[in-house]
Amino acid sequence: MLEVFRESPHRRWNPLRRDWVIVSPHRTQRPWQGQTEETAPATTKSYDPECYLCPGNVRAGGHHTPVYAETYVFENDFAALKSDLPSAEFDIERAGLLRATTERGVCRVLCFDPRHDLTLATMDVEAIRRVVDVWAAQELELSRRDDIRYVQIFENRGAMMGASNPHPHGQIWATEHIPDEPAIELTSQAEYFARHGRPLLLDYLELELKLRERIVAENDEWVVLVPFWAVWPFETLLLPRGHVRTLNGLDTKGRDGLAAILKVVTAGYNRVFNAPFPYSMGFHGAPCDSDQHPEWQLHAHFYPPLLRSATIRKFMVGFELLGSPQRDITPESAAETLRSVMSETT
Ligand SMILES: [Zn+2]
Ligand SMILES: [Zn+2]
Repeated sequence: MLEVFRESPHRRWNPLRRDWVIVSPHRTQRPWQGQTEETAPATTKSYDPECYLCPGNVRAGGHHTPVYAETYVFENDFAALKSDLPSAEFDIERAGLLRATTERGVCRVLCFDPRHDLTLATMDVEAIRRVVDVWAAQELELSRRDDIRYVQIFENRGAMMGASNPHPHGQIWATEHIPDEPAIELTSQAEYFARHGRPLLLDYLELELKLRERIVAENDEWVVLVPFWAVWPFETLLLPRGHVRTLNGLDTKGRDGLAAILKVVTAGYNRVFNAPFPYSMGFHGAPCDSDQHPEWQLHAHFYPPLLRSATIRKFMVGFELLGSPQRDITPESAAETLRSVMSETT
């Protein structure tokens, strides 16, 4: 990279979201007098009688979590979306100013493990591998429904990200419409594919593997990198080496590789500040509408909020809410930090 970009403020283009991020490398030395967060003590009990996700416990509304041995999926008792709705829409005076449509969908919870005190970072790879199979099976089942066009699989980890329960679990939301983030990525990938005849993210990965400035971990099937356009300080992008559009499109080796790399990433994150590392992570697979989506490449985003210690988080406020996002630590120096913690054996 040109020297001026290592030391001076500049902006970087995100070809996937079609927006810019401002990078201010010279600001990393500024003193911090802002807010610090409490760190939640690590959970130590393997079973919590108060936890509604622990085997055998009662959930809201009298539902029962069964005694499960590996993973457990159920419809969210307080689902944000419902599937048994009549379809309706309005657009007052057809001005496009006051528009709404009904949104049908399904919200499910997936318990990764019966043990209350584990996380993806501390589960063994075989257990994570079972979670990968459940993700793929859920994606396949929901994507076959006529009323579903997108299946979003995600995990919120840590109280800082609003996770209400430390029990290892994630969520699956399936919606009638393609949500905004994957919709923007669809437009970008489709236009790139029309112009170049290759998936955008495969070409991007090829460039990153050539430069090797932002790669943080890899195995035979998957690569983890800090994207050139990362907004969150320690944001990462997980990419399969080959072209695959969905989780259920991953073969056995692809699934094995994903389970192994998820362990490396989540365990490595916990070593950045030697404390549980909060994040939102999720998979972006191809939409399940009528199209085949040759342009789409499966990937996962990790968005961790921490900035410079386990108690200092990044806020998206001021210019970032009103203008565009900005970061101080360069993606290259974040990659260096992550590379060293993720290369330690787990
Ligand atoms: Zn629990
Ligand atoms: Zn994405």
